[in-house]
Amino acid sequence: MKYVLVTGGVVSGLGKGVTASSIGVVLKACGLRVTSIKIDPYLNTDAGTMSPFEHGEVFVLDDGGEVDLDLGNYERFLDVTLTRDNNITTGKIYQSVLEKERRGDYLGKTVQVVPHITDAIKNWIESVSAIPVDGKEGPADFCVIELGGTVGDIESMPFIEALRQLSFSVGQDNFCLIHVSLIPVLGVVGEQKTKPTQHSVRELRALGLTPHLLACRSAQPLLENTKEKLSQFCHVPAGNILNIHDVPNIWHVPLLLQNQNAHYAILKQLNCLNTATAPDLQEWTKRAETYDNLTNSVRIAMVGKYIGLTDSYLSVVKALLHACISCSLKPSVDWIAASDLEDESSKLTPEAHAAAWETLKTAACVLVPGGFGDRGIKGMILAAKYARENRVPYLGICLGMQISVIEFARSVLCLSKANSTEFDESTPDPVVIFMPEGSRTHMGSTMRLGSRRTFFQTPDCITSKLYHHSEYVDERHRHRYEVNPDVVDKLEEAGLKFVGKDDSGKRMEILELPSHPFYVGVQFHPEFKSRPGRPSAPFLGLILAATGQLEAYINKYQNGS
Ligand code: GLN
Repeated sequence: MKYVLVTGGVVSGLGKGVTASSIGVVLKACGLRVTSIKIDPYLNTDAGTMSPFEHGEVFVLDDGGEVDLDLGNYERFLDVTLTRDNNITTGKIYQSVLEKERRGDYLGKTVQVVPHITDAIKNWIESVSAIPVDGKEGPADFCVIELGGTVGDIESMPFIEALRQLSFSVGQDNFCLIHVSLIPVLGVVGEQKTKPTQHSVRELRALGLTPHLLACRSAQPLLENTKEKLSQFCHVPAGNILNIHDVPNIWHVPLLLQNQNAHYAILKQLNCLNTATAPDLQEWTKRAETYDNLTNSVRIAMVGKYIGLTDSYLSVVKALLHACISCSLKPSVDWIAASDLEDESSKLTPEAHAAAWETLKTAACVLVPGGFGDRGIKGMILAAKYARENRVPYLGICLGMQISVIEFARSVLCLSKANSTEFDESTPDPVVIFMPEGSRTHMGSTMRLGSRRTFFQTPDCITSKLYHHSEYVDERHRHRYEVNPDVVDKLEEAGLKFVGKDDSGKRMEILELPSHPFYVGVQFHPEFKSRPGRPSAPFLGLILAATGQLEAYINKYQNGS
């Protein structure tokens, strides 16, 4: 196993995740098998309890792991399926060490950060890197490890020490360190400043780690003399100084690295030039260029709760992008804070209310993504009603599907108080209810998480056709509530069809409104499995319907072309 460690210096938010996954892409393009590990030095055991407002989306894996959104980048870029253990947090490490301590495994010894925590980190990295993630057997050739945070943070110290020890034990042919840093431009002269990078490399070296490559983020390409300075003061050969300057879209990043021979520098450092082929990034080049040259766009109204931070819905945005690209369109996402659509807002914030409705009414389609808690629920119901009544293509994901059921029950079944018990425990018409798979009492274990199978109930529905008539589909879940099985017959009689269910037939997974051009709700989160070259079926359907191409697409596929 060859380890490529990616650390960050100077400031956070440099795009370390994208850099690390792009390095993985370039290595994969050289015919190598690549896996990845993300280290988050926070105390939470996983991202499940973290607010999307603060931390961006919680990404969900097949095995039910609730992880940092960077793992989504790795899955999308490297086209792999990671496990929860590929995300290491301080919380997980301490938990494992403390459990061992309680079991008496340390035989009466004093349990300390060094060596017990650092050993646990090393063991974790070594065992997780051996898990195959690309569908093939046996461990990958390379493991890209991204260390979250910035070098020098107190909380990342045990990880730095563990990685230093790892680099020593695996030897220099098996460990390559890439330090991502910022080259700011200051003042009227516009000089590219290297000092912050010099300092962060010095900090790293003081901790016993020497970077073999630098990946410098900058607005404009690095000047030759900036590179020379960096090389001289940071002790890194000029050929190993990579520059990731701003690019029109992130798919250019692997290309940028390839053009600067990043693969050559890494493979040379790891003494394995002869095991790799020349990188083949044709598909990436095509995709990056196609995107740059797209002229037509499609407007998608995203009606959600966590609107302030677009990272809160990162995978949904990526899935829209994948679907749009495959239709040669640029996505234009119009964010609508659901609460702005509500009647109350017309009095309190009339301008925001008017603007939200204007945006909704002029969009080509409506998407209500997942979410928790009751804020904005009324606004989402209004958006679903608007889309249903005006035959505007609608996709409801998880909460968005539950919203469409509540709306339909209220408007069509005339159950004006119909609700989810999540928002009104004593509703007389609970159309969405808590249906735990396991214990009712332990919050942590009541969430239905990870990959579950959905069986199509009929081949004659839009989603089955979009999923190319498979008998079933495996998608990822993250929810507690579900459509009440007792009201399914009534909803179906009134025209709402549940075309996908779990194996017991009790859990509703996909709904459609056959009288509508495209009105689809899914209890799962299809966004997590969308890939650049393989758009997710429900998203593709939404975009095709929004641009009047759905029927032609389905006919074309049915005719076998
Ligand atoms: N809050 C809803 C539930 O728990 C929906 C969750 C979601 O959208 N991810 O079922």
